[in-house]
Amino acid sequence: MSIAKNLLSLKAKLPDHVTLVAVSKTKSNEEILEAYNSGQRVFGENKIQEMVQKWETLPTDIQWHMIGHVQRNKVKYMAEFVNLIHGVDSLKLLIEINKQAKKYNRKISCLLQMHIAEEDSKFGLDKSELEVILKSEELQQLENVKIEGLMGMATFTNDKIQIRKEFNQLKSIFDELKDQIPEVSILSMGMSGDFIIAIEEGSTMVRIGSSIFGSRN
Ligand SMILES: *Cc1c(COP(=O)(O)O)cnc(C)c1O
Repeated sequence: MSIAKNLLSLKAKLPDHVTLVAVSKTKSNEEILEAYNSGQRVFGENKIQEMVQKWETLPTDIQWHMIGHVQRNKVKYMAEFVNLIHGVDSLKLLIEINKQAKKYNRKISCLLQMHIAEEDSKFGLDKSELEVILKSEELQQLENVKIEGLMGMATFTNDKIQIRKEFNQLKSIFDELKDQIPEVSILSMGMSGDFIIAIEEGSTMVRIGSSIFGSRN
C-alpha cells in the first residue's frame, strides 16, 4: 500500500471533528511529501532536532506538532514555528516555552500530558500535579503560552478493556478541565493501534504513524 492510499483509507475512518496528526518521525522528506501531496498538513515529530531539519526543508504551510518528551534546553530551537506541543508535563517547561515564545512574539499552543498508562515508564502528570499547575499564580502570568487541552497514551497492551478504561479516565479529566478553562478543545489520544477506541471515548486528535507510513525501523 502507498502512503497516499493508507491516508485515504485512514481518513475514511475518522469523524470530521477529529484532527489527524500524521506522525512522521524517522520518515524521509520524500515520504512526508507523499502525504503532503495527498492533502495532509499536520505532522508530528518526537525529536526537536529532527523536526527542525524537516521544517527547514519542507513546505512552509505544514503545521509541526511536537509529540515527544520535551527537554527544556531545546525549546528554543522550535519556538519560532512549532504549532502545538503535546507533551508538556511541568510548570517549569511551560515557563520556558513562554520565555522562548516571547522572543518571536508568538503564543504557543500546548497540551498538558497526563499519565494514564499502567507502565511507569511513560511521562505525564497525575491529577494532583495537574491541579497544582492549574492553580499556580505563575501560570496566570504566562502570556505567550495557551493551554489547549490534554494528551495521553494508553498502556501498550492488547487488553482493549484496559485501553478503553484509560482513555475514559483521560476524558473525564478533560471534562473537569473544561469546567475550569472553557476554551480548551483538544483531547489528543489514540495511535495506530488504539485510535478507534480513543475516538469512541472522546478523542478530538489522533497521532498516527505506522498506519500511514508503514512500520519504523
Ligand atoms: C510514535 C508515536 C505515535 C504514533 O505511533 P504509531 O503506533 O506509529 O501510530 C503517537 N504518539 C506518540 C507520542 C508517539 O511517540
